[in-house]
Amino acid sequence: MQKACVIGWPIKHSRSPLIHKYWLKQYGLVGDYEKVAVDPKNLESFILDIENFGFQGCNVTIPHKEKVFEIVTVADPLTQSIGAVNTVYFENNTVYGLNTDGYGFISNLKSGVREIKFLDMTCVVIGAGGASRAIIAALLGQGVAHIILINRTIEKAEELANHFGNRVSSAKFSELNNSISKADLLVNTTSLGMTGQPELEINLENLPPHCCVTDIVYAPLETNLLKQARQRGNPTVDGLGMLLHQAAPGFEKWFGIFPKVTKDLRNIIIDDLGK
Ligand code: NAP
Repeated sequence: MQKACVIGWPIKHSRSPLIHKYWLKQYGLVGDYEKVAVDPKNLESFILDIENFGFQGCNVTIPHKEKVFEIVTVADPLTQSIGAVNTVYFENNTVYGLNTDGYGFISNLKSGVREIKFLDMTCVVIGAGGASRAIIAALLGQGVAHIILINRTIEKAEELANHFGNRVSSAKFSELNNSISKADLLVNTTSLGMTGQPELEINLENLPPHCCVTDIVYAPLETNLLKQARQRGNPTVDGLGMLLHQAAPGFEKWFGIFPKVTKDLRNIIIDDLGK
């Protein structure tokens, strides 16, 4: 039986098993997907020996993504530019690492706003953490013209801007409300607005009416940022679809079918978030 898992430390709250078990059932596949808590000190042996632990591969979550990037034998150029891995698969006696967060982000926007065109966009990205790295790489890959990267710790935004080159510039949080006047896409990649975290303080007065607004926080499903944007009439996309779409490439590697993100699956996760 083909098996995969999600690893983290801790791992209790991961919703990945719900997603993959849904697809296994949907496609009538004999397989399983488990949660495995992997202590950082056992991470290297777990990843390099993943097949002997009984798994075709795994998803990787906090705090292991960067370390797993260093451990895997092969990572594609996109994953290398991000420096973090969220999907591992074993093939031809080799351990491969992928980062599918950017794919999940772009697919979510494309399914939320069908007419979206990334080419030549100006984007304002708030946050310069791990998710931001993957999103910036994905947006650049889609041909956006310019990304204004805003972060509380400005040094981190500067570092990412240097890393990704001249289409990315950094700005201070205090410049947020002015920066958005040029935006075709506004993205929150910080944890601000998440249940239990402080709100993202932002004034959308200068936001162009066509600007698409998205938040990668998905609990609550409609963050304050999305609510304000929706009330002004801007197109909005919530963050849950990113979680669902990023899971699809891994499922294909382990179980052989590229699965569909359906409304039904989305509702299952929304129900679980409400528990
Ligand atoms: P991370 O690497 O820890 O980065 C956190 C980011 O949030 C940093 O930019 C940090 O700024 C900022 N931040 C945190 N608290 C702040 C505060 N009080 N004021 C201002 N900025 C603050 O985390 P991550 O992995 O990028 O994840 C970020 C969020 O995205 C989390 O809520 C995570 O659950 C969510 N996420 C969602 C998906 C999805 O599929 N929808 C995927 C990945 C992540 P500093 O640099 O100044 O600390």
